[in-house]
Amino acid sequence: DFSVHLQVKGEDELAELGKAIQTLARDLEYLKKERNEFLASISHELRTPLTYVKGYADIARRPNMGEEERNRYLSIIYEEAEHMQKLVKDLFELAKMDQHSFQIHKELTNLCSFFKKLHDKMQPAFQAKKMSLVYYCDGSITVHIDQKRFEQVMMNLLDNALKYSDQGSIVSIDVRKEKHHIVIIVADEGRGIPKEDLPHIFERFYRVDKSRSRTSGGTGLGLAIVKEIVEAHGGAIYAASEYGKGTNMIITLPEG
Ligand code: ADP
Repeated sequence: DFSVHLQVKGEDELAELGKAIQTLARDLEYLKKERNEFLASISHELRTPLTYVKGYADIARRPNMGEEERNRYLSIIYEEAEHMQKLVKDLFELAKMDQHSFQIHKELTNLCSFFKKLHDKMQPAFQAKKMSLVYYCDGSITVHIDQKRFEQVMMNLLDNALKYSDQGSIVSIDVRKEKHHIVIIVADEGRGIPKEDLPHIFERFYRVDKSRSRTSGGTGLGLAIVKEIVEAHGGAIYAASEYGKGTNMIITLPEG
C-alpha cells in the first residue's frame, strides 16, 4: 500500500507536492519490479514440471516401449502434474489474499482441543517416517481463530517439520498463554536453516536448498501463505533456527 502525505500550506507547497510525487513514483517503481520478479518466478516454477511432462510424454508414446517402463514414465508425468496443480492452487490462494478478498471466519476455539485433533490427524504421517509428534497445552486456552485457516497454518508448519527432519526425531507443539498474547511454538530437530536464509524464508518461492525443491515436492509458497493467514488474525510469525540442530517456528496471537 502506498499513500501520499500532503501538507500544502504556505510557500513550500510546491516542494512538498514534488516530494510526495517522487515518493509515489518510487513506490510504483518498486511495485512494478516486485510484480515482474513474481511473474518471472511463476514462469520458472511452471516451466520445470512442464518440461518433464512434455519430455516423458514424448518418450512414453514410443511404440516399442515395455509396459513397465511406460508406467514408470506415466508416474513421473502424474507427479509433475500434481505438483503443478498444487502450485496453481497456492498461487490462487495468495492472489485472493493480495486482493483482501479472502474471508476470515473467526470462532471461539479451545486451543488444547484444537491441537489434540490436529495431533491425531497428523500422527500417522509422523509414524510413517518413524518420527513423533507431541504437544503441550496448559489448561484451557481459548482464542478467536478461523479454525480451517489455522489448521492450514499448522499443517504447513508440520509438513515442513516432517520434510526437513530425519527419522527418529521429535516435533513438538507448545501452546502457552503469556501476559498479553498467546504463543505457539512448533519445534523440530531437523536440518535447521542457515542464518543468512532466515530473513527470507517467508518470501514467495524462497527455498534454502534450490536444487532439492523439485524432489521434495514443495512449492516454496507454504510459509508465505502461513504468514498471510497469521497476520490476518492480527498475529505474527517468526523463525529461530540453528543450522544442523533444528528450527522453531513461533506464532504469537492476540488474546481473546
Ligand atoms: P517449501 O515448499 O519449499 O517447503 P516453504 O515456504 O514451506 O516452501 O518453506 C520455504 C523454505 O524454508 C523451504 O524450502 C526450506 O528451505 C525452509 N524451511 C521451512 N521450514 C523448515 C524447517 N522446519 N526446517 C528447515 N528448513 C525449513
